Amino acid sequence: MPPLFAEIAIHAAVPTTFHYSVPEFLADSIRVGHLVDVGFKTGRQPGIVMALADSSPIATLKPVRALMHPDPVLSPQAVRLARRLADEYLVPVGLCVWLWLPPNLAQHTQPRYRLLDSSYRAADALELELLSLFSRRGALREAQIRTAIQHNHWPPVAERLEAEGVIRVESVLTPPVPRPPKVQLAQLAFHPAALDDALVGLARVASKAKRADVWAHVLRVLSREEEPVDVSWVYAQTGAKLPDLQKLADFDLILLGEKKTWRDELAERDYIPAAAPMLTTDQASAWSHLESALARGKYAGFLLHGVTGSGKTELYLKAMASALAQGRQVLYLVPEIALTAQTLRRVRARFPGQAAVIHSRLSEAERYRVWGQARDGAVPIVIGPRSALFAPLPDPGLIIIDEEHDGSYRNMSAPLYDTRRLAEWMAQAHDAVLILGSATPDVETMERAKRRELTLLELPARLHNHRLRAESQAARAHLLPEYDDAQRDAVARGLPPVTLVDMRAELRDGNATLFSRALYSALDETLARGEQAVLLLNRRGTSTYVFCRDCGYVARCPNDQQPLTYHEHDSNLRCHLCGHHSPAPMRCPSCSSDRIRYFGAGTQQVEAEVMRRFPSARVLRWDSDALHRPEVADAILARFWEGRADVLVGTQMVTKGLDLPGVTLVGVVSADVALHLPDFRAAERAFQLITQAVGRAGRGLRAGRAVVQSHAPEHYAIAHACRHDYDGFAAQELAYRQRLGYPPYRRLARVVFKDRNAARARSLAEQGARALAARIAELGLTGTDIIGPAPCYYARIGEVFRWQILVRAPDPRLALRDAATANGWHVELDPDDVL
Ligand code: ADP
Ligand code: ZN
Repeated sequence: MPPLFAEIAIHAAVPTTFHYSVPEFLADSIRVGHLVDVGFKTGRQPGIVMALADSSPIATLKPVRALMHPDPVLSPQAVRLARRLADEYLVPVGLCVWLWLPPNLAQHTQPRYRLLDSSYRAADALELELLSLFSRRGALREAQIRTAIQHNHWPPVAERLEAEGVIRVESVLTPPVPRPPKVQLAQLAFHPAALDDALVGLARVASKAKRADVWAHVLRVLSREEEPVDVSWVYAQTGAKLPDLQKLADFDLILLGEKKTWRDELAERDYIPAAAPMLTTDQASAWSHLESALARGKYAGFLLHGVTGSGKTELYLKAMASALAQGRQVLYLVPEIALTAQTLRRVRARFPGQAAVIHSRLSEAERYRVWGQARDGAVPIVIGPRSALFAPLPDPGLIIIDEEHDGSYRNMSAPLYDTRRLAEWMAQAHDAVLILGSATPDVETMERAKRRELTLLELPARLHNHRLRAESQAARAHLLPEYDDAQRDAVARGLPPVTLVDMRAELRDGNATLFSRALYSALDETLARGEQAVLLLNRRGTSTYVFCRDCGYVARCPNDQQPLTYHEHDSNLRCHLCGHHSPAPMRCPSCSSDRIRYFGAGTQQVEAEVMRRFPSARVLRWDSDALHRPEVADAILARFWEGRADVLVGTQMVTKGLDLPGVTLVGVVSADVALHLPDFRAAERAFQLITQAVGRAGRGLRAGRAVVQSHAPEHYAIAHACRHDYDGFAAQELAYRQRLGYPPYRRLARVVFKDRNAARARSLAEQGARALAARIAELGLTGTDIIGPAPCYYARIGEVFRWQILVRAPDPRLALRDAATANGWHVELDPDDVL
C-alpha cells in the first residue's frame, strides 16, 4: 500500500519532526531521504523525509507539495544516524539531517509553476495570460515567467490560482554556479630597476589618494621578488587589499593573474612515493590486523597509536588500497586541511584521480560538485575535515580519522557532536573498518581501547623517512644519505632528544629574556649550520597583555573584560574574543605613569627577540592572520619549506602535522601557560602540544632536537612529554580523571546561560541549577552531580554574560533531556572545553 503520511525534518533548531500527508501524485515516488517542499508556518520550507507511514498521530495535515530533487538526498543509514546523533547529543534532529547536505543547498531553490487543471476558465485577462503561457510552455520557473510576462502583476494572480487548485507551485533545486576565477598572483609590470621612476609616476597620478602609501609599499615589496608572488603574501606584507592591487593594475604598474597552488610547486621538489614501500616489521604486524578486518567486511574499530613519523600514513594508504580493491570507498578525515597538503599529495600520488577534497574554502558550487561525485561513486576517496564525514559515499568500507585527539573533531557549533563517535556509528552502519590514528591519542580513546572497545595497534619507532625521499633531500643538500644498499626503504630513528629548561632557575641566574641560555645556544648552533628552527608559543588562553608597573593597571576590553593583546605592527590593542581594538596607551590611563609595559610574550616579541639576537636570521611569523587566512598560511609555509627563511615563529597551529625536513630544532618558548586554564583537559592539551611540537624536529636528513622552556617543569604533562612517555602521561591523567569523576569515567555535559544583563545571566543559571537538582532527585539518578553555577572562564563575550553548570553523570542526558529544549538553555554534551 502506498504511504499516506510522511514524517519530515524541517531545517530549523526545533527538537521535533512534523507530519504531512502524502498527496496521490507523490505516493509512488516518495522515499525516505527525499528532499521535499512542504508548507510550514509562513510559506515554503525544504524538509527531509524521515519516515513514511500509513497512519498519522495527527488528524488534519498539510500535504507535501513536491520533491525538490528526483532522488533521495540522504541514504536510509544517514537518516538513522541523524536520529541517533540527535538523541545522543540532545540536539535538534532538524539540524542534524542537514549535515549530510552541501551547505545552503536548500537555499538554492526556485519556485516552479505547473498547470494542473486545464479545464479551468480564466476569470480575467491577467489569469488568461498566465494560463495560456503555462499551457504553451509547460512548467516554468519564476525567472522564466518574469521574462515572458512584461508586467509584475502576475504573482498575486498565480497565488490565487494556486489556492483554487488550478496550478501547483513547487520548489526545484538549482545547483550553485561556480564563481569566476580569483586573482592569486601579482608581479611588477616593469623592470625592478625602474622602481624609482614608477614611484614618481605613482605619486603624480595618485598623490591625493588615501591609499597611496600602501600602493607604493606594494611596488617596493614586489620589486624585491624575481617571480610572480602569491597576492596573500603581498597582503600580509603591506596591508594591501584586493582593490589596492586592482588599482595598481589599472595604472599598469602591476600584473595580476591566476596560478596553481604552492602545493603543486612543492610536489616538484619533494619526493613523494607513488608506490607502496615494503612495510617495516612494526607496520607489518599492525597491518595483519587491519588486513583481516578489511577482508571480513564487517565493522571493526582500531586505535593506531604511533609516534610522530612512525609510518601511520603509510598504513592508511595500504588500507585504502585494500578497500578500493573491494570496490568500496574511503573517508579520510584530517584536522586542518590547510596543513595537510603533504598528506594530500601522498594520497593523490598513490591514487591518482581518485581522491576529492572537501573543505570550507571550497565555494558552494565546488562543494556541490564534490558532493555529487561522491554520491555517484565517481570519486572513491573523500578527504577533509570533520564535515567530510557527511560525504554521501554509497558504500564506505574504511573511515580514517587522523590525529584523532584534535579538538576540531568535537564540533563546537550547533549541532554539537563528537566526530569520532559519529564515525564509529557510521562504520557500524556500513560494515566498515574505522581507524583512529594519533601520536598522542585522547586519553578517553585510549581508555576505550584498554576496554577492548577498539583494537589497539602500536607503532613505537620513528622512521627515518622513505629512502628515496631521504636520497633526494640529500642530493639537494649535497649530503650523504644515511642509507646503504643493505638496508630496506626505511630505517628507524630515535625521537629527538629534549632539553627541559626551568625558567625560574634561569631568572634566578639573572637571565630575564625570552630565551633560556640552552635555547639561545641551540638556536645559535642551528643557524650557524644553516639549518632551520621552529619556535613555538602556546598561547591558548593567554596573551601579551599591557600592564602598568607602578599601579598594576591591566588594559582590558571594555566589552568583555578580557586582557587586551598588544600588536606591534599597528601599535593597537586587540580583544581576541570580540574583536575590539584601540591604540596602545603611552601612559597608564589609571595613574599616568609612563612605565606601562607589554607583559608576556607574543609571537611578535619572539620574532623581535630573534631578530635582535640573530640579526642575519630570516624570520617568518605565523600569527592570527595566518590562522584565519589559510592562503597566508600556505604562503608562509611554502617560503619556509623552500628554505627562504631560517626561523619560523608561531602558535600551536604550527605543530599540526607539518613535515618540514629542514627543521632540526624546535623551541617551545612557553610550554605551560595553558596548564593554568580552568579546564579539565588543560594538562592533556599541554601534553599533546609539546609532544606534537617536539615531533616536528628532525624529520629530514639530519637528526633534530628540542628545547622546552617551562615555569612548571615538574608538572606531569610537561615532564612526560619531554620524555616521550605517552603511557606514563595517560596513566597519570586517567587516574586524575577517575579521582574527580571526569570523562571517560563519567560523561560530562555543560549548560550555558547567556544574557546581556549580568544579574539575569546569574539568576537564570541559579534557577537552572535548582531545577536540575530537583529533576535528578525526582528521577533518583545516582552518580549524577552538578558543578556550579559559576561564571564561564570567558565570562563575557561581546555584550553577553555567560554562566554555566556542569553535569557529571553516567548519562547526563537523563537529567537534561527536557532541559535541552528549554528556552535559554544551551546544552553541550561532551564539550571540548568548559571555558
Ligand atoms: P606518520 O604518519 O606516522 O607521521 P609516515 O607514514 O608519514 O608517518 O612515515 C614517516 C616517513 O617514513 C615518511 O616519509 C614515509 O614516506 C616513510 N615511510 C613510512 N613507512 C615506510 C616504509 N615501510 N618504507 C619506507 N619509508 C616509509
Ligand atoms: Zn572584547
